[in-house]
Amino acid sequence: MPDSKGRLTQDDFNKVKLWFDEKTEGRLSNCPMCKATQWATIDLLGEIRISTKDFVIGPGVKALPVLSLLCKKCGYMAFFNAAYIGIVGPTLVEEEIGHDK
Ligand SMILES: [Zn+2]
Repeated sequence: MPDSKGRLTQDDFNKVKLWFDEKTEGRLSNCPMCKATQWATIDLLGEIRISTKDFVIGPGVKALPVLSLLCKKCGYMAFFNAAYIGIVGPTLVEEEIGHDK
């Protein structure tokens, strides 16, 4: 769980490393743009807003928590659902969307 300022903790980074090692079998993936393998984990979570009907701004907005990886060579960014990695708990939106682990 990120700290009071929203920054990932060492425990979060450890979870991220374990999750990626498990999913990639320890191999760093190549950037789809420049083919480098120089990734940095952004230490703040982002969000992707979800709209199931009309787009909403303000109260009632739903969002998915996002972990961002940055290619240090070209700036390409990859996004992963932070709940899948275990950094934050499952969200209502995920329950509504559903997913298979
Ligand atoms: Zn790149």
